[in-house]
Amino acid sequence: MLELVNVKKSYEQKPLLKNISFKVNAGETICLLGASGSGKSTLLRMIAGLEFPESGEILFNHIDLASVPPHLRDFGLVFQDYGLFPHLDIFDNVAFGLKMRNISQEKINARVTDMLETVNLQGFAARKVTELSGGEQQRVALARALAVEPRLLMFDEPLGALDRTLKEDLLHELRAVLHRTKIPAIYVTHDQDEAFTIADRILLLHDGEIIRDGSPADVWDHPNSIHAARMLGVGNIIEGRVKLQNDGRGTTNMVTAFGAFDVTCGHKHSAGESVSLLVKQSDVGGDEIQLEVEDIFFKQDQFRVKTTRGLFIRLKEAPKIGEIIRVKIMVECLG
Ligand code: ADP
Ligand code: MG
Repeated sequence: MLELVNVKKSYEQKPLLKNISFKVNAGETICLLGASGSGKSTLLRMIAGLEFPESGEILFNHIDLASVPPHLRDFGLVFQDYGLFPHLDIFDNVAFGLKMRNISQEKINARVTDMLETVNLQGFAARKVTELSGGEQQRVALARALAVEPRLLMFDEPLGALDRTLKEDLLHELRAVLHRTKIPAIYVTHDQDEAFTIADRILLLHDGEIIRDGSPADVWDHPNSIHAARMLGVGNIIEGRVKLQNDGRGTTNMVTAFGAFDVTCGHKHSAGESVSLLVKQSDVGGDEIQLEVEDIFFKQDQFRVKTTRGLFIRLKEAPKIGEIIRVKIMVECLG
């Protein structure tokens, strides 16, 4: 089990990671989702031992790794640019870590064959790196990382350079391999689709902090903060005003430009306070509101519809511009 406790890191007096704490349990794949430049790679480098936190601890099975050099941590890293050795063939690329470990040639042969099978590259052993497509190269990188049976695998935007359909296939395969081998993994990306596909647990990194940590479904359904809702593009964020003082229990009435709603809210608010509310379209229940259609955008299997005061909704059938439509919504308080 990997555990980070209050990890901090600054560059040139600018805090990049302010206070990072999380755990990766046995067999679990967690995904750290954050914008470009949010410090994802820096965090992985610290876990790998290539860089040091300013303060805080990184532990594996309750042992502090501060004095454990990278090669003794037994962690594997897979990068976007594959990091294969172009002068070696596929066999030698996958065997690389095993050869460093003084294992018999017979065992190395068996292990490499096994790993190439795991990543669906049977028969590729004698090929050159330059003869492989990007997706195939990334499979080799995965086979190489798996070959040495690391205690933890880390993926730094590994599919960033690949096109969309290939990405999705590889993601599904990678997820299957990780679950089969039960190697705990940290996958970092700025790509939300990727994150939600691969993860058992999603962690949102924003402004140097983990602002949300939960199962993909839970994080999507309840982003719980304005930053998380914005990051994910969940629903619409609107302004509201608290009608009556709220003690942080039960529901409270919020007045908005779309009407007044009874909102379940775990925060303490005084009467008249301004709040941000998340409006999600709902198929099951909630309040009904009327909206006027302003514009319609085609979005794969449905239509994204811009309505009154910039509220976006989705519909299966395209409405007419100017039409008044009724939609059911759920309103949540983001604080
Ligand atoms: P991400 O992987 O999320 O895109 P990074 O961890 O690569 O983010 O880097 C975040 C920011 O930290 C970068 O924009 C850069 O300004 C800064 N940074 C990273 N490494 C260094 C370094 N070695 N020296 C100075 N600044 C750095
Ligand atoms: Mg990065």
